[in-house]
Amino acid sequence: MEKYYEIRLESIGGLGANLCGKMLGELGIKYLGRNSTSFSSYGSEKTGTPVKGYVRYCDKEKEIRIHSPVIHPDLLAVFHQALLKDKGVWEGCDENTEVIVSIDGGQMEKGLKIPVPVKACHIIDAQQIAIETHSRINMVMLGAIGKVMGFAKLSDLNQICEDALGSKYPDALKGNLEGIRRGFEEVRQKTIDSGVENLQSLKSRDSSREWGYLTAPVGGINPRFGSSVAADLSPSRQGYIPVFIKERCINCGLCDSTCPDMVFQFAKGNYKGKEMMVNQGLDYYHCKGCLRCVDVCPVNALVQGLEAEHPNKEYFLPNQDIIRKPEYYIKAGADGYITSESYLTEKRMEGGEV
Ligand code: SF4
Ligand code: SF4
Repeated sequence: MEKYYEIRLESIGGLGANLCGKMLGELGIKYLGRNSTSFSSYGSEKTGTPVKGYVRYCDKEKEIRIHSPVIHPDLLAVFHQALLKDKGVWEGCDENTEVIVSIDGGQMEKGLKIPVPVKACHIIDAQQIAIETHSRINMVMLGAIGKVMGFAKLSDLNQICEDALGSKYPDALKGNLEGIRRGFEEVRQKTIDSGVENLQSLKSRDSSREWGYLTAPVGGINPRFGSSVAADLSPSRQGYIPVFIKERCINCGLCDSTCPDMVFQFAKGNYKGKEMMVNQGLDYYHCKGCLRCVDVCPVNALVQGLEAEHPNKEYFLPNQDIIRKPEYYIKAGADGYITSESYLTEKRMEGGEV
């Protein structure tokens, strides 16, 4: 092995990349006869926020003396295909980098756009496998990573899974081992369309790259007002969505109070002859699939559904006029504002300016 074998995990809070990185780190020391380190970087650990994991291996007789992020990964593991459009994901990748992408089944046979020349690209439908095996995306990715890096056996991966989860979550062990096995066996190489996407045209989800000391509207302020209100949180869903059954809804508003991400769209309307704020449906752009709303709804007007069975989710938001317009949210910032319909209606009711 060269001095180090380095892995970078690119993910979103909620997909389990942090644990996956820790397990890869322990795997090196305990079962691969190497020295290894691992750590993650993340913000508020909130579902939907960016997460990066870093793992380094070296031969036993050498030492790892650096503890910095992995800039030039030998292996880049992307936990959701939506991240492919993030410029920061590709930082430091080149012809020596192998890439694994978790990609949904419908995209498997389509061309994959990679904005930098890489050594090879591998794909796996980690979300679907996680659903089928009752495991999680991170376990399927662990299996795929173990296979692609080429010096771990499936039995090593099983062993580290038993160590990490066996005593804490014994009931989940069987499903997770199956998820790892399928990740290991089903990851496959894919021909790529290198250079189709122009790296320069991609945006970075790391706001510090766009807003610095000289460019922030007010020095140091978080330009993403409401933290995630401007963000597309759909990649953090793990195969499940809340499905709205409007006929059952009593417009109690509990879902709106519970949802951390302003997904519910209420507008002034009529319910059983009374003028009130009426639940119009969900804006799935911001829904991270935590399903808290399903738990709180007192009349089962929100139920858990498989996202794959509802590809056209706009069906659940029949009032097309109030569908989120991305440009509204681009205006959200230090001196910006949000034009969610419920917010506007409240302002109008108060007689305020909008
Ligand atoms: S919690 Fe259920 S009943 Fe109440 S507004 Fe939301 S969907 Fe409707
Ligand atoms: S699952 Fe429900 S509570 Fe969670 S983000 Fe989506 S709409 Fe909001």
